[in-house]
Amino acid sequence: MSYIYQADLYCDDCGEAIRDLLEADGNGVEDRDDECSYDSGDYPKGPFSDDEPADSPCHCASDAKCPNAVTLDDGRAVGAIVSGLTSDGRDYVLAAEDSPCSRLWRAHYDIGQASLDFGQAILAIFPIAILAKILFANF
Ligand SMILES: [Zn+2]
Repeated sequence: MSYIYQADLYCDDCGEAIRDLLEADGNGVEDRDDECSYDSGDYPKGPFSDDEPADSPCHCASDAKCPNAVTLDDGRAVGAIVSGLTSDGRDYVLAAEDSPCSRLWRAHYDIGQASLDFGQAILAIFPIAILAKILFANF
């Protein structure tokens, strides 16, 4: 589950923690379930499904401080992934240069090396097919 607050996404734990802090400071809302009564800039809205698709992977904005942070293979920590992917999002992950973060995305979304190799094979074959068509069109 995720929350939106001040134009950022937060995981369930961080969204709830922000709500608790705001309420402790007297900045809560009358009815947290009546999302029309408040702005996400003032109080976290949610929770939304983590499967909510986005055009690129979204991480909890608490970043390394997120209690659900994920440790990359280079030792850095990033906030939990809090979104699904649209087809553009899948393309974004596939096109991302190899890095600790892109490896995390590929593992999280189960976009494996095999599908990347298949995509590269199609990209390699496609220009050859066009070239062959151009060459044989002249004969
Ligand atoms: Zn978090």
